[in-house]
Amino acid sequence: MFILLKNAECYTPDYSGEKDILVVMDKIYLIEDRINESFLPGMQVIDCSGKIAMPGIIDQHVHLTGGGGEAGPASCIPELMLSELISGGISTVVGVLGMDGVARNIQGLLAKARALEIEGLNTFIYTGYYGVPVLTLTGRVMTDIAFIDKIIGAGEVAISDYRSSHPSIQQLKELSFEVLSGRMLGGKAGVLHIHVGDGKSGLQPLFDLYGESEFPIGMFVPTHINRSRTLFEQGMEYLKNGGNIDLTAGEKTGKGLSVQDGLKKLNDAGIGMDRVTVSSDGNGSMTGSGSSGETGKVSQLFNDIRTSILETKIPITTAIKTVTSNVAGILGMYPGKGCLAAGSDADILVVNREGFTLDKLLVRGQVLVDNGNPLVKGRFELRHQSPTS
Ligand code: ZN
Repeated sequence: MFILLKNAECYTPDYSGEKDILVVMDKIYLIEDRINESFLPGMQVIDCSGKIAMPGIIDQHVHLTGGGGEAGPASCIPELMLSELISGGISTVVGVLGMDGVARNIQGLLAKARALEIEGLNTFIYTGYYGVPVLTLTGRVMTDIAFIDKIIGAGEVAISDYRSSHPSIQQLKELSFEVLSGRMLGGKAGVLHIHVGDGKSGLQPLFDLYGESEFPIGMFVPTHINRSRTLFEQGMEYLKNGGNIDLTAGEKTGKGLSVQDGLKKLNDAGIGMDRVTVSSDGNGSMTGSGSSGETGKVSQLFNDIRTSILETKIPITTAIKTVTSNVAGILGMYPGKGCLAAGSDADILVVNREGFTLDKLLVRGQVLVDNGNPLVKGRFELRHQSPTS
């Protein structure tokens, strides 16, 4: 119930030096230069010398119930289990449906999110899938967002992709109206999360939507912006106009840009870094055809942030913000989540200073990962997964 993290180099995500962090129940109670260990009897004390403490990662794009399905039923990816998420340093996840709106639905996604929350994670979902009209729980996007706590937006709606329903600007306006009304009536941030494919129109539909309407630009989150260089250039333009952009982990520099190369370009340009985020697209199909048997890994997100810091020399604070406070701000979770502060949720990631490797993850004050290994597993996860055991 009481945990004291001692001598941690704190990135809140701004750098604040070496601190002690006192966790009481599910909240951060105090962050001070020194907190006396006798403050509370029976308190668990964890020495964090040589370690960094940062907010737990918020991954805003994960196919919790499995993506894929694009090469027939056998290509449907199984659902994601708790240990895989927490092993990637993720304390908060937003579940999303992809192209498959037939074998997967919002009910199943919501049930999965609730299950993971019971198992220890913070979870949210978007209503909808690739197509327009979207799939919903209550019959309308507006009421889904206004009345269902876990639903914090709509998506991933696909544009500029051969698998997209090719929504007209009018359809996107109508959908934006549903999201905006839902977010106002529900008192949430409420976003429209947009999958941008590698089709020839790129981000143009979003530029048109914004240009022809009065919707606040902050409600849109286009993702996969680093999948091609042309799209990335458009993304930079969109960022200059005040929009948010989300990069996807695991992309290699070639046709597109890796997260580290993308972040470097954006950081050098010095525009709107607080509106840049990165997500994993975890548990989706890697090839788009779903036939390779390869799935996106949620741990790739932490790996890409580490590479950005160690190899590309992106400032730690800048890199960390793209998966913590920036995401929390856009999704309306800040400052409860995405930062280390007295009163915030005790979602804390502890990383070894040397090599920036994952050590511990606390979610709502519970230590779920220690020494890089998950301490808990989902109810139906195999206890021994190695082939030799
Ligand atoms: Zn997508």
